[in-house]
Amino acid sequence: MQEQSQDPVAVIFGGARGIGLATAEVLKQENWTVVLADRDPPEENTAAGFKSYVVDVTDSRSVTQVIDDVAETYGRMDGLVNAAGYNRHAPVAELEDDVWSALFDVHLGGVLRACRAAYEPLRAGQGSVVNFSSINSRIGRPRRAPYAAAKAGVEAMTRTLAVEWAQDGIRVNSVVPGIINTRLVQDNLARGLADRASLEGAVPLRRLGEPNEVAEAVAFLLSKRASYITGQTIVVDGGALANGNW
Ligand code: NAD
Repeated sequence: MQEQSQDPVAVIFGGARGIGLATAEVLKQENWTVVLADRDPPEENTAAGFKSYVVDVTDSRSVTQVIDDVAETYGRMDGLVNAAGYNRHAPVAELEDDVWSALFDVHLGGVLRACRAAYEPLRAGQGSVVNFSSINSRIGRPRRAPYAAAKAGVEAMTRTLAVEWAQDGIRVNSVVPGIINTRLVQDNLARGLADRASLEGAVPLRRLGEPNEVAEAVAFLLSKRASYITGQTIVVDGGALANGNW
C-alpha cells in the first residue's frame, strides 16, 4: 500500500460521462482525488486527470476488485457515488423479463454491490455514499415501470443503509435528478421517445437541468458540510415534482 493520500478519495460508478463525470469535475475542484468506474471507458479529453476502470456494476467480483484496488492504492476511501444507469422504455403489457431484470440488476444490484464492497474502507474513513434515484420513482410516467421501481428501491435501500451504517459513522443519501441534459435524455429525444418542448413545459424553470447542477448536490452530500444529513434524498429537478400547475 502507498502512503495514505492527503486528499479525500471518491469512486464514481457511472463516472465516464453525464452526471457522474460532472460530479468528478466538481469534486476535483474541491480537492478530492476521484476515480471513475464505468462499463465504457471515458471519451478522450473528457476525463483528463482521472484514473479510470472499465467495470460493469452487474459483476460483483469486478466491482469488489475496483474498490479493493482504490483502497489499496490510496490508503483510504471517503466517498462512493453510484451513478451508473440507463433506461429501456416498454409498456408493462409488453415488458420482457430480461428487460425488467437487467434494469434492476444495474440500478439496484449495482448499489448493493458497490456499497457492500466499500463498507470497510468507508467505515475506516467515516465516509459517505450518494446513490442516484430519479423523479420517475415518485410519479407514474408510462413505459418506465422497471426503471421507476428500481429507482424507488434505491431510495428505500438508501434509508436502510443509512440506519445500518450510522453507528459506523458512514452517511448514505441519494439525489433525485429531474430531466437532465445527458446522453440518457438526448438519446430519447433523438429517437422520438420524448419531446423536448413537452419535457421543458413540465418543468417550472422551463429548461432541462445541466449535469453540474446535480453534481453540486452530490458534492455537498459527500462533503463535511452535510455532516448531519443521512438517509435523505435531495431533489434537483427545476421544480418538476412540485409542479401542480397543469
Ligand atoms: P449517462 O448515460 O450520461 O451516464 C450513465 C453512465 O452509466 C454511462 O457512463 C454508462 O456507461 C454507465 N453505465 C450504464 N450501465 C452501466 C453498468 N452496467 N456498469 C457500469 N456503468 C454503467 O446518464 P446520466 O444522466 O448521467 O445518468 C446518471 C444517473 O442519473 C443514472 O443512474 C440515471 O438513471 C440517473 N438519472 C438521470 C436523469 C437524467 O435526466 N439524465 C434523470 C434521473 C436520474
